[in-house]
Amino acid sequence: MQRDALFHGVYRALHPDRCAVCELSLEAVARYLWGFLYERVNDPWSRADFIAARGFCSTHAWQLARGRDSATGLSIVYWHLLEEFGEALSVILARQLAVGAGQRWRALFGPQHGEALAREVGQWLERRRPCLACQQQWEAEERSVAATAAALADDDFRARYEASVGLCLPHLVAVTAAAEDPGGLEWLVPVPP
Ligand SMILES: [Zn+2]
Ligand SMILES: [Zn+2]
Repeated sequence: MQRDALFHGVYRALHPDRCAVCELSLEAVARYLWGFLYERVNDPWSRADFIAARGFCSTHAWQLARGRDSATGLSIVYWHLLEEFGEALSVILARQLAVGAGQRWRALFGPQHGEALAREVGQWLERRRPCLACQQQWEAEERSVAATAAALADDDFRARYEASVGLCLPHLVAVTAAAEDPGGLEWLVPVPP
């Protein structure tokens, strides 16, 4: 088989105590988040995607927040998201006032209009696209699973795999499903010492 960059990536990531596909996916996310914060905070296309995703999922938002020197970049993008939400909320409130609550603000939050208001706000908050970091993670997983499946026929890869902890269960299933010849792959499940 051809040993390309992806082969060398998964080969190097085979580890005594971590799944290689998990490792490469987490590395890809960390790289992406770093790039987002230091290179793309003011990039209009990345910002539009960030707004459409309604921010990062909680896992990746906290991963960023716990990173070094992330406060400025995070405040810029989340301030923008809050502004967008504020504008949308003004439009929603004005529409609800127009359709029935009249000018009675308190009626907006009562039983008659509260449900419609909550529904419209909930609809705005729904993601228009996945969390940007989750997407990077899925794409990295797909690449690494395909590269691992392709590397199974390589004797050096097998030797290094057998010295590693192996793959986690979801990635073991994915690699087996992606393998060209799924027969005779028992060696993918490491035997405990
Ligand atoms: Zn894994
Ligand atoms: Zn995410």
